[in-house]
Amino acid sequence: MINSPLSNTRLQFTLESESRGSRARAATFQTPHGVVETPIFMPVGTQATVKAQTVDSLKTAGARLLLANTYHLLLRPGSDVFKKFGGIHRFMNWDGPVVTDSGGFQIFSLPHSRAMDENGARFRSYVDGKMYLLSPESSIAMQQTIGSDIMIVLDQCIPSTAAYDEAQAAMELTHRWALRALNARANSPAALFGIVQGGGHQELRKASAEFLRDLPFDGLAIGGLAVGESHAERYDLTERVTEHLPAHLPRYLMGVGTPIDLLEAVHRGVDMFDCIIPTQLAQRGVAFTSLGKLQLRRTVHKFIDEPVDTACHCPSCQQYSRAYMHHLIKSDELLGWHLLGMHNLAFYHRLMGEMRERILAGDFNAYYQQKRLELLRSDEDNPIRRPKKAKVSHPARLGDYELHRSAQGFYSIRQISSGEIMHSVTAPSEEANKLYVEQPGLVARLMKREDSLDELVIWDVGLGAGANAMAAIHCFESCYKENGGNNLRAVRLLSFERNLDPLILATKHPGCLPYLRHGAPSKILAHGSWQHTSNLLHWELLKGDFRDFIDSANIPELISYDPFSIKTGAELWTGEIFARIFSRCAAKPAELYTYSASTAVRVALLSAGFFVAQGVASGPKSETTIAFCRAESATQHPLAPRLLDQKWLARWRRSEAKFPATISQEEKARFSTLIESHRQFLNAL
Ligand SMILES: [Zn+2]
Repeated sequence: MINSPLSNTRLQFTLESESRGSRARAATFQTPHGVVETPIFMPVGTQATVKAQTVDSLKTAGARLLLANTYHLLLRPGSDVFKKFGGIHRFMNWDGPVVTDSGGFQIFSLPHSRAMDENGARFRSYVDGKMYLLSPESSIAMQQTIGSDIMIVLDQCIPSTAAYDEAQAAMELTHRWALRALNARANSPAALFGIVQGGGHQELRKASAEFLRDLPFDGLAIGGLAVGESHAERYDLTERVTEHLPAHLPRYLMGVGTPIDLLEAVHRGVDMFDCIIPTQLAQRGVAFTSLGKLQLRRTVHKFIDEPVDTACHCPSCQQYSRAYMHHLIKSDELLGWHLLGMHNLAFYHRLMGEMRERILAGDFNAYYQQKRLELLRSDEDNPIRRPKKAKVSHPARLGDYELHRSAQGFYSIRQISSGEIMHSVTAPSEEANKLYVEQPGLVARLMKREDSLDELVIWDVGLGAGANAMAAIHCFESCYKENGGNNLRAVRLLSFERNLDPLILATKHPGCLPYLRHGAPSKILAHGSWQHTSNLLHWELLKGDFRDFIDSANIPELISYDPFSIKTGAELWTGEIFARIFSRCAAKPAELYTYSASTAVRVALLSAGFFVAQGVASGPKSETTIAFCRAESATQHPLAPRLLDQKWLARWRRSEAKFPATISQEEKARFSTLIESHRQFLNAL
């Protein structure tokens, strides 16, 4: 037994064994709720419950340490409930140790409305619409109220694919926040882990590990992996980080992963893991077994009178046949999710237990070599014959449209006559999400708030190949899944389109445009409408010229304005059209989002009465445009977009393209007055 002189006092971490020919290690540490043996997997109890499991089934499956989610618990049930119950242990009846994450991952990686600065991240609650500040200090305070055994510092989580400068800035902020979190923790008995950041850049990861290892943390987490990089890159980065981490602290790889990921990371010196995969995939019918991964939805299991895994001793495998599990999963029965979730967790915990045994026995390396082959198998008894890869030999066409493959490899729809490509710069669903879902803070808007119990009406101007509409639908569905229907507003999504060829063409190639793998697009084409099973979302197609619907369509709160560009279709970008939209929306504080940042478009919007602000960048466009019916909507917007100011006005006066192309000579004077006298440019604003 190797007893490090540096063993910290809070966890009394004891390194028991290190492998030869591998960085794998076995250790124990002490928490206020019992001893933890590593390597260990932590089931994720986001809402103080692991999905579809009881505390008893978790224990039966072998769980010893749970991860709970500070962000979700802060919003609901809220800190007062934890104060009343004296913490999470009594609240959820779990007597083992609990780790809480800081909320950083949720804040930075999910499409929430948020604004971030040195102090922390301000965001709107999806539960009640209130604004919250998550700072290094408030995160620690909340974790102390939850009463976890191990707390985690707040970090700025960015995708591992982020550029060097961005990754460096996020890492440095994470370091400053780490110092503040340590201060805030003070003499609390709970342990505190720092988080190594640095994106996909090895030098930054090294610098981060070296900075944090000198601080009085009780353990170190590796954050920002499993968000964008390939498996090989992740394994490589993990190893680069662990070689700079001190031996006397537990190492926790956040949010990872599949069974093979766990094996590979233990081999590279990681001690702790958490992941939603075992329970999440159970809901979809996936079983991890000694024969590899099985999909229980497949009809091959319909008559099999054997357990899911003959080598498993979990209660599900002891008591039920694969045929019964197949039936439960096919029928979407909750019992199927519960039983299969318990089995998958048992598989994970057994895998961790085996690794620990083999490290202690001194032959982990041999185990690793054999196990990795085993874990890469999938259903050897019933191999899936893969359908031939869909390939587009000649450009698929319909009318004036064709399927276009970009140099980066994603597909879009292109208008042949104009050459214009819908969402040309990034994959269609990516741009749709960024501009029309994340930017307007759709998640927060979907939540019921006292001041907005009415239906959320969204105008999708220019349905095209359906990318924007589907992004809104996918967003709604993920909120519905996360929160259930009780807290969601009803949504009416109105798509305006003259020509359905792009969507018809696109739906014939769902392999190229994966966001269309959904039942809704074919329904909208066949019936002109589609309804979510909850009846909370109603999608309607208004076929024809958008201009004919402006005065009759339900008044919108949000407008995704995405018709073809001025060059191809100037008629939808005039001051007159925007004035009609503005007067239709006058009763509501409506907001219009568009990809265009051209002066002509902005002037047309201003002339119509809109308050015009810079929208987020998208691909090579350094900015896009947001138009507000009311000035205060801009100030209250979570991203605090900048309204065009005096400087912009001065540039406009000098501009060559001062007026929309369609404007007549006589109109120009009137137009200039409208812009010059716009309230947006008055000093009062
Ligand atoms: Zn089992």
